[in-house]
Amino acid sequence: MTVLVTGGAGYIGSHMVLELVDVGEQVVVLDNLSTGFRWAVPQQVPLFVGDTGDGKLAAEIIAKHKIRAIVHFAASIVVPDSVADPLSYYRNNTTNSRTLIEAAVNGRVEHFIFSSTAAVYGNPASVPVTEDAPTMPMSPYGSSKLMTETILRDVDHAHGLKHVILRYFNVAGADPKMRAGQSTPIATHLIKVAAQAALGIRPGMQVFGTDYPTADGTCIRDYIHVSDLVRAHSDALAHLRGGSPSLTANCGYGHGFSVLQVIETVKRVSGVDFTVERAPRRAGDPAQIVASSERARSALGWRPRFDDLPTIVTHALEWEKKLRELKT
Ligand code: UDP
Repeated sequence: MTVLVTGGAGYIGSHMVLELVDVGEQVVVLDNLSTGFRWAVPQQVPLFVGDTGDGKLAAEIIAKHKIRAIVHFAASIVVPDSVADPLSYYRNNTTNSRTLIEAAVNGRVEHFIFSSTAAVYGNPASVPVTEDAPTMPMSPYGSSKLMTETILRDVDHAHGLKHVILRYFNVAGADPKMRAGQSTPIATHLIKVAAQAALGIRPGMQVFGTDYPTADGTCIRDYIHVSDLVRAHSDALAHLRGGSPSLTANCGYGHGFSVLQVIETVKRVSGVDFTVERAPRRAGDPAQIVASSERARSALGWRPRFDDLPTIVTHALEWEKKLRELKT
């Protein structure tokens, strides 16, 4: 019953690996180390360095380790990059996923959990957004993930590969035990950027767009703690193993914070008043996106434990400090 975690050396994947190892699951990781780190994978977990688009390698891993479930995180995730370079996003997030799914079908994998995104909704007409809302991505990133969702539904229908598609809202924070966190040197995500500004790792930060149709003019997002997100995957695995049908569920808490509110929280928690500049809008950003989390709670029994922005920020700051110590 070994679980294959793709992207297991990356930010969210490494938290998943820890969670699976903590409960005694057998785990193997496939990661091309483009943004992940070898040190993020526990020593006892086999790490295969390669692409999910390498069908031969995926087939070998599935056969050798008798993989019955795949949790597929490996992906490119930066919205503005996807606008600038759509073809590489479609290759990595759609084409490579298709190859992995094909290997899963041929290797008789039973369960597949897929990291999708709130970006599939685009700029929703109303919030909180439910899973039945129209999908109208505003960026190649969102489109590349939505295409893979479609592949999974068709493949379930044709071949019986059962899946849970989890649409992530804005993931942040770090393992409360500080064994993992967001370690990429080039931060683009808001809470990490603000944490770096608070710690003097960067001179300050910018707010991208202050003329959105929101109360303070900045974008609103639903920030979810990485440990709660990972727990939703464990719940999804239990759901599928219990014989329940395939499912698509949002992963967010159901309340949103503006960019300025997040920055204010980081300043308050850190006690540092760093420099913040107003800047033009960033390509591909919807004004407001907040999850309805009812389905994850009712269908998966998901019970978040860290639904508190200051706690998320505290863990993000602690991890940033730890990373700084590791480098010095
Ligand atoms: N953002 C910002 N300054 C930054 C990074 C992000 O103003 O240095 C804004 C961004 O424009 C968006 C929100 O913060 O409105 C969340 O962006 P992030 O990249 O964290 O996640 P996304 O919603 O794009 O997945």
